[in-house]
Amino acid sequence: MIKVGVFGASGRVGKLLIEDLKSTQGMSVSSVYVRNSLDFTIDPSVLVTSDMHTFLNGCDIVIDFSLPEACESLLEEAVKTPRPLVIGTTGLNTHQLNLLKQASEVMPVLYATNMSLGVALLNKLVYQASKTLEGFDIEIVEMHHRHKKDAPSGTALTLSESAAAGRNLDIDKVRVSGRDGNIGERSSDEIAVMALRGGDIVGRHTVGFYNDGEFIELNHTATSRNTFSKGAIRAGKWLADKEAGLYSISDCLELN
Ligand code: NAD
Repeated sequence: MIKVGVFGASGRVGKLLIEDLKSTQGMSVSSVYVRNSLDFTIDPSVLVTSDMHTFLNGCDIVIDFSLPEACESLLEEAVKTPRPLVIGTTGLNTHQLNLLKQASEVMPVLYATNMSLGVALLNKLVYQASKTLEGFDIEIVEMHHRHKKDAPSGTALTLSESAAAGRNLDIDKVRVSGRDGNIGERSSDEIAVMALRGGDIVGRHTVGFYNDGEFIELNHTATSRNTFSKGAIRAGKWLADKEAGLYSISDCLELN
C-alpha cells in the first residue's frame, strides 16, 4: 500500500484527491498538511499536521495541489526528508522552478501543469502542428473559473512551449501575454497567450494556427476536476518506485 501525503488538502483539487484516493487500489491517504485546521472531516487514522517534517515522515509519496509559496516551502523541506513528489501547483516562478530542479536531484519529482491525458496528447499535437504548419500565426486562449489565481494558466504556458519547440523558437523571445493598445503588425515568431476568467469553468484551452485562407484550432476542455486528481493519482503510482530525477506527465503516460 502506497501511503500518500496530500499537500493543499482543503483546496478544490485537494479535496477531490482525498475522495478519489478512497476508491484507489494500492494507495491510501496517510497524512495531510494543514495551515490551521481542516474544514471537513477525515478518517481518524489520517495524520493531520501543520508540521512539514511530521507530514513528510507520515507518507511514502506526496501529491501537491497548493499555491506557489506553499509549494516552495514543501520543496525546501522535502530536500531534508526526501519523498517522491507529484507537483501539480502552477504559477511557479523561476526561483521555485529551480528549487524543484534541485529537489529532483535527490528524489523523483513529477511536475505537470496539467495532469490530464487529453492535455498531454494536446501538447504532442501542438508540437506536431507547429512544426508542420510553417508560417501560420499561433495564438493561445485559455478560460478558467473566477477563483483561479495565476494567469495565464500553467497549461497555456506549457502549450506555448510545445508550440515554440515545434519551430525551434526561443520561448523567452516569442511568448506574449495578452495584447493591448496599438501593438503594430504581428510578428511572425510570436505566440500570444490570452487568459479569460469567469464563472465555474474548470479549464478550456484553444491553440489556434492561423494563415491566409485557412486556420486550424486544437481545443481541450476539462469538464471535471477529477480529471486532475485521478491523473495525479496515476502519476503518483508510477513515480513511487522511480529513481531521483525530474519527470513529466508524458514520461508517466509513455507518450514520448
Ligand atoms: P485552491 O485555492 O482551492 O487550493 C489551494 C490549497 O493550497 C488550499 O488547500 C490552501 O489551504 C493551500 N495553501 C495555500 N497557501 C498555503 C500555504 N502557505 N501553506 C500550505 N497550504 C497552503 O486551489 P485549487 O483550485 O485546488 O488549485 C491548486 C493548485 O493546483 C493551483 O496552482 C492550480 O492552478 C493548480 N492546478 C493544477 C492542475 C494540474 O493538473 N496540474 C489542475 C488544476 C489546478
